[in-house]
Amino acid sequence: MYSSTHPTNVLKFCPRCGSAHFPATSNRSFKCANCSFQYYVNASAAVAVLLFNENGELLFTRRAVEPHIGKLDLPGGFIDPMETGEQAAIREIQEELGIGIHSLKYFCSYPNEYVFSGYSVYTLDLAFLARTENLHQMIAMDDISSFEFYKPQTVDLEELPSISMKNIIKELIHREGTY
Ligand SMILES: [Zn+2]
Repeated sequence: MYSSTHPTNVLKFCPRCGSAHFPATSNRSFKCANCSFQYYVNASAAVAVLLFNENGELLFTRRAVEPHIGKLDLPGGFIDPMETGEQAAIREIQEELGIGIHSLKYFCSYPNEYVFSGYSVYTLDLAFLARTENLHQMIAMDDISSFEFYKPQTVDLEELPSISMKNIIKELIHREGTY
């Protein structure tokens, strides 16, 4: 009923006491029969950053790592524990592209299923509009191989494997002129 990477098909042992009696109690929860430890599968928060150049083209990155190596993505990544979305966006852009950004403004959010090391991580991807004066100083680093600019209306959505990124682009097109 669920994919082979769904948590109920991957997690076999209690992470607290190591018991093998760790049954799923729903599609998103577990309870250890030995120590009563309860584990819930929640969405992991992540950020995507929307940076436009002076021609109204949006910045995309090309992935240097699996999943979807070689495909397009929006810059961003997972939010660290106890970090704000805005802090995560600033940190990820510094790590991936080596530049500072400012004037962050929340745009929209979309969910995604991100399969990593054989495990489905359910994410909520928060998109932020941002500004920078340093686009010409960008360097592709970390988990990206290059960066490219496309108008949201003309980017090939087949090159963008993430369903949440596709939905963010569609919303940019739908709300054009209002942000
Ligand atoms: Zn246990």
